[in-house]
Amino acid sequence: MNDGVKTVGRFAPTPSGKMHLGNIFCAMIAYLSAKKDGGEFLLRIEDLDAARCPKDGAENIIRDLKKLGFEFDGEIVRQSSRTDIYAEYENRLQKLGLTYPCFCSRAELHAAEAPHLSDGMYVYDGRCLRLTESQRRERSKTKTPCVRVKTPDKTVTVQDIVKGAYSQNIAKECGDFVIRRSDGVYAYRLAVAVDDALSGVNTVVRGEDLLSSAPAHIWLCETLGLEFPRFAHIPLVTGKNGRRLSKRDGDGDTLEKILEHKSAEEIIGRLAFSSGLIDKYESISLRELIDVFDFDKIKKSNITVEF
Ligand code: GLU
Repeated sequence: MNDGVKTVGRFAPTPSGKMHLGNIFCAMIAYLSAKKDGGEFLLRIEDLDAARCPKDGAENIIRDLKKLGFEFDGEIVRQSSRTDIYAEYENRLQKLGLTYPCFCSRAELHAAEAPHLSDGMYVYDGRCLRLTESQRRERSKTKTPCVRVKTPDKTVTVQDIVKGAYSQNIAKECGDFVIRRSDGVYAYRLAVAVDDALSGVNTVVRGEDLLSSAPAHIWLCETLGLEFPRFAHIPLVTGKNGRRLSKRDGDGDTLEKILEHKSAEEIIGRLAFSSGLIDKYESISLRELIDVFDFDKIKKSNITVEF
């Protein structure tokens, strides 16, 4: 970072399936931006919803990242072991009078996952906020509620390193979001803000489909008295037909085959060339790319990687 503070970056995969090239690209930019100024690169496994993560999911991710030349600083953080910490921050929000039980079930299912644009996120209309105490008691007899946080009618602006200024009215465009599901699983939005702050992450690099999550992240940190990071939302990697890569569409299997047949330097070289970091394709290691790295070199539009 240019104010003399070293970058602490991170890669935060959800081990619900195999990684695809877009995940590797994200890890690569997070790693390079941290190492460029001698900073740290952390790995956090976002296995909040343990039931949806295959047993060897995290280990496979770690193995593949190591094969590609990634090295991590500090301990690997696993969200599944941090429930008590999230509970403490939920309590703080409760003490501030900002939480309420919600008995609606729609969208709760995916609350533990990052709300990617393609997931069809919607703004909750706040209907359970208006329930009276006796209505709450009555509903609780038949249903365990999830917990939502009450969002303010306030505009928060992110100064994104890649995308520039992005503003959002938290109440109108994000809405009261779930912080704990009815099955007790803490939700992505709470966990990500708490974890980044507690592990000293000051630079979050991730796909641009999560840009719309950043204002709520900042608001939550401000509300909880936590430091918030700067953000760099980078272009997505798409297939030849323009389709965004996704674990659900088998793009993890494609990467698995690539990892079997290509060297780490070939894969990193392809990503570096396709994204604009180097002008000519060459096989290159992550370490060699550190000096070359500059956010300004990254293409602004989606990236297609050809092998
Ligand atoms: N675990 C998230 C995902 O796989 C990434 C969230 C983040 O980088 O903030 O989509």
